Amino acid sequence: MKPTTTVLDVARIRESFPILQREVSPGVPLVYLDSAATSQRPVQVMQAIDEFYRKHNANIHRGVHRLAEEATEAYEAARGRIADFIGAASPREIVFVRNTTEAINLVARTWGEVNLGAGDVVLLTEMEHHSNLVPWQMLAAKLGFRLEFVPVDEQGLLDMDAYKELLGHGPKLVGFTHMSNVTGTINPAAEMTAMAHAAGAVVLVDGAQSVPHMPVDVQQIDADFLAFSGHKMLGPTGVGALYGRQELLEAMPPFLGGGDMIKRVSLEGFSTNEVPYKFEAGTPAIAEAVGLGAAVDFLSEIGMAAVHAHEQVMIAYALERLEEVPGLRVFGPAPELKGAVASFTFPGAHPHDIAQILDSVGVAVRAGHHCAMPLHQKFNIPATTRASFYIYNRIDEVDRLIEGLYKVREYFG
Ligand code: PLP
Repeated sequence: MKPTTTVLDVARIRESFPILQREVSPGVPLVYLDSAATSQRPVQVMQAIDEFYRKHNANIHRGVHRLAEEATEAYEAARGRIADFIGAASPREIVFVRNTTEAINLVARTWGEVNLGAGDVVLLTEMEHHSNLVPWQMLAAKLGFRLEFVPVDEQGLLDMDAYKELLGHGPKLVGFTHMSNVTGTINPAAEMTAMAHAAGAVVLVDGAQSVPHMPVDVQQIDADFLAFSGHKMLGPTGVGALYGRQELLEAMPPFLGGGDMIKRVSLEGFSTNEVPYKFEAGTPAIAEAVGLGAAVDFLSEIGMAAVHAHEQVMIAYALERLEEVPGLRVFGPAPELKGAVASFTFPGAHPHDIAQILDSVGVAVRAGHHCAMPLHQKFNIPATTRASFYIYNRIDEVDRLIEGLYKVREYFG
């Protein structure tokens, strides 16, 4: 049944997103269903960046002049907001990075380099994005440890019995995505972390899709590391965060070498700065971090429980309507087990052609392997078309997607 409302005042939210007012061609308004790739940004984020450059721009941490102090304050305030947003015990546990990919590479190249070696096991899952797979493959090739994978069933859920069994192999690190960017599956992060800790493993959670869309509390999950990107949660590109438990961050060697990550340098060597600065070599994305702080404020004002509740209504309705389209196959579990992501195939139509036809009616979706080739291999398909929803999507936009899909059906018979 078509819902009439969700918990969010979507019309009001949309006022903050000027891009959603545009047409993709004359008379064809944009329906943006590609937020899993990158979200749109509200004017509040753009204004925060604009104001930073207009009034406060300077390099941080090293200056004593007024602008340098203000820029440092704005950058560190953003760190504090992000720490609160995910329930970190201290802002020191938040390392600014470029994105989820860099956050995971940081963990692999620092924690991994000193804690992993021949004979060790790192346990991942079959549903990982390449960014939580390739860094470990690269490191495994160098250090000689083994990668193992928790299987995914045909519904797109992890096989928890197999997980339990694989933990028996004594992995040093367990890494898993909190929410799949293909099936939308939400993995039971707290339960999985507790099981991994009981087996003696350190836990890294890929929060690229969960942090933007649902309440995520690192202390409730008890994660050791959590990686996420600003650009998927209304923030700018070029900035993201790695949460790391403070004692782990303190024990890790630095990642990149250069300015800001050091305490003292001589020609003979260097000593490292305290965390998190030890991991932030060079001038960071200052204005972008400030913009991410504004994005966190925007989301916090709405409330992450409300964001999730809205998306639950959207995905339940989207799945119901998608099921009506003859021949369409949707991947992933029931709506209550997933986020607002629907990936599907249509017999006889290539996912890219589907996306192109949808684009002709203004509906922006993504087609391809979504940087999760192994999961597509598991499902025996080369690619899917993916529609993903966020706080600014209206219920009637699901109908626009479905109308577009009937057009695809007409075209391909
Ligand atoms: N992990 C998941 C689950 C993702 O969906 C993505 C992006 O699509 C990433 C990691 C990588 O994010 P980024 O490209 O911002 O580093």
